[in-house]
Amino acid sequence: MIEYYPFLTNFLSVKTFNNEIYIKLYLQITILGVEMTSEKILTLEKTSFKGALEIAKKGTHCGMCRFDFLETGLCPSGKKHGFLAYWPQGRMQIFKNLMEEKVKPTEKLIEIVNSCSLCGICDKQCNFATQLRPEKVAKALKDYVEELDKGDFQNIPEDKNIIALRKIVGEEWATNDPIITSSYISSIIAPDSKFNFYIVMPKDAQELSKVIKYANSNNLPYLPRSGGTLLSMAAPTVLSNAFGLEKGIVIDLLRMNQLEIHPESQTAMVGAGITAFELQKEAHKHNLRANVAEAGAHICANIASTGILSTWGNKYGWAADNFIDVETVDDEGNIINHSDLEIENPYTTEYGFTNISLVPPLIVTKVTTRLNPVFDDEEAVFVPFENIQDAIDLSFKVARRGMGFSNVILSRKYLAEFISPTPNIAKDFEYILEKYMKLNYAVDIICNKDEKKIIESMVDYTIDKSTLKSLILGCPKLSTLKDSEFMKILSEEKDPLKAIFAGPMKEHFEKALEATPENISKIYDEDLQDFFKKAYSKPELTNIIWLHEHRIFPSRLMRQRMFLPMGGVIWTEYEKNLLDWINMFVNVGDKNKLIHALGFISPFDQGRFACLEYDFYYDHNDPDAKKRVDKAIIESQERSLQIDGILSALNFYFKGLYRKEHVLFPIAKAISDDDRELFRELLKNIIGGV
Ligand SMILES: Cc1cc2nc3c(=O)[nH]c(=O)nc-3n(C[C@H](O)[C@H](O)[C@H](O)COP(=O)(O)OP(=O)(O)OC[C@H]3O[C@@H](n4cnc5c(N)ncnc54)[C@H](O)[C@@H]3O)c2cc1C
Ligand code: SF4
Repeated sequence: MIEYYPFLTNFLSVKTFNNEIYIKLYLQITILGVEMTSEKILTLEKTSFKGALEIAKKGTHCGMCRFDFLETGLCPSGKKHGFLAYWPQGRMQIFKNLMEEKVKPTEKLIEIVNSCSLCGICDKQCNFATQLRPEKVAKALKDYVEELDKGDFQNIPEDKNIIALRKIVGEEWATNDPIITSSYISSIIAPDSKFNFYIVMPKDAQELSKVIKYANSNNLPYLPRSGGTLLSMAAPTVLSNAFGLEKGIVIDLLRMNQLEIHPESQTAMVGAGITAFELQKEAHKHNLRANVAEAGAHICANIASTGILSTWGNKYGWAADNFIDVETVDDEGNIINHSDLEIENPYTTEYGFTNISLVPPLIVTKVTTRLNPVFDDEEAVFVPFENIQDAIDLSFKVARRGMGFSNVILSRKYLAEFISPTPNIAKDFEYILEKYMKLNYAVDIICNKDEKKIIESMVDYTIDKSTLKSLILGCPKLSTLKDSEFMKILSEEKDPLKAIFAGPMKEHFEKALEATPENISKIYDEDLQDFFKKAYSKPELTNIIWLHEHRIFPSRLMRQRMFLPMGGVIWTEYEKNLLDWINMFVNVGDKNKLIHALGFISPFDQGRFACLEYDFYYDHNDPDAKKRVDKAIIESQERSLQIDGILSALNFYFKGLYRKEHVLFPIAKAISDDDRELFRELLKNIIGGV
């Protein structure tokens, strides 16, 4: 915190630190005529701290710094120590907490800063996803600690709980240190909580079972944390109470990192610490593919929470379709496998809109998941549309005929955010798509060669592989064409999409994009350009199929500000209600003055139902914006249920262990006004009022 003293009379030292000037002043202060000298060093020009705080505040806990998606290797500190505090995202959270005086330093902080080698891996990963530089924050944290006196550190004694928990998981893997605890703020711990927490990292179901039994016999609440991708989206909102913990034990599952691929049975045994990306990468080595969603989400958590809603759902299924067997631990600490003969039917749950649960029924510690063959004639078909109904018609028709592995309608906003390396380029890209190209939706299908021919025969034109590659590498150049003569001429075409993707302008357009790894790398900070030139030279980064499988783009949706995905499931028999449903979200977003847009619509179960995601975007550092998002969440969920054929997102959370047939059948009918009141009361009880 910057302090101001009435009289600063003596400059004693000026120190240069990594190009940033720290003016250190030993203070001689005259107050009421008495001259006093302070030993404390005051940093007057805390520009580096200010800059670092700006970065830290923009962090969204997207989790992209916790798996190796750019072949940089992993943060060595996080890999060794495990707790969130040692990972780049945790360091950013700790720095923010210290600057905002939410937590006081402990001796652990010294170990945390010393464990960072300033290797810069996190800058590359984070820049790809969010354009932040976490290494700057790591450096500022080191400088901060260097300036502390011995007396600035608080001492946290062990208590009986931590002693007992350490006996279960080992000395190293349980802590009540407030600095470590505070790194979990904004993902499982609410910002205004007292630091009355223990963090434990059990290595397997047996240790977890003992932790739960201990928690129960000592009245300690607990919750599991995996990748934090859902928890961090819920944390700034009204959903925080239901998803978060007020006190007790955070069970961090990262140490459960067993991963075995069994090619002969096309299955994988996946521990609760394994991310979607890690599973997919291993599966790929055997020419197999897992059904995965967000890259940083842990597979076990994804199955338990949202059932893995992915663009591959039409072929590979949802919820219990995803696994052969699961190992779970229940709330009494019993270890239960779905394959155990003596248990009750584990695949069924109560049906209906009042069945809402925002905590997991069981903690999944291991899953035997299905893998699917990858065929060597797979291709991507990308069909651009101005009109949503045309996109729906194509996507659903293809799904109902059982064609395609992955099938999704992407909105203009998603396309722009995924492809663009910076938010500004995304903004310009989206503007060009809307204003000049009239590309508002793209039906995006991965299928085999024969299916591709059939799909191509159903439409006038598609965006081919080479143009897609050019769009990925050339989007910085494309954004400079905003308001150019070229774009104006294009927009005057009768069918601009055809002209640019299948007509005479295609060749000129591709040339104009100057799409090379070297050109896209120029938008990054100078010291990162060489790295990104090499990264974008790898075929994977422009391979549409690889990108669908490994999903390293979607976290760009939460770069430097949050988004909250709403939506749910609609029976395609009620397709006529789809546009009303979308319009309802538009209305709620406008009413609450939010940036909002359709995300995607993806058919499931041979087109019997479809999953829709509609997103509200907001600045998580703006309290007023958070209030507006809260209102939008509640209203959109209530109004979703008043439309025939729809189950809102909150209704299928934490139903991923059940058979989809039990969760979704029979078709939901619109609820009455009285039921809406009931639903509101129920929500109030679960999440608290808005
Ligand atoms: C950019 C972005 C895109 C996303 N896209 C998709 C998508 O397409 N499809 C989709 O399905 N989801 C998507 N999500 C949501 C999110 O990834 C999933 O909900 C995922 O399951 C969260 O996994 P996680 O490991 O991050 O879990 P966390 O956020 O750590 O935990 C989520 C919830 O599950 C509980 N939990 C954690 N581990 C376990 C466990 N082992 N057993 C039981 N409960 C557990 C936690 O207590 C918490 O309530 C997206 C999220 C983001 C940020
Ligand atoms: S700079 Fe520090 S925080 Fe970043 S990856 Fe390296 S060790 Fe981890």
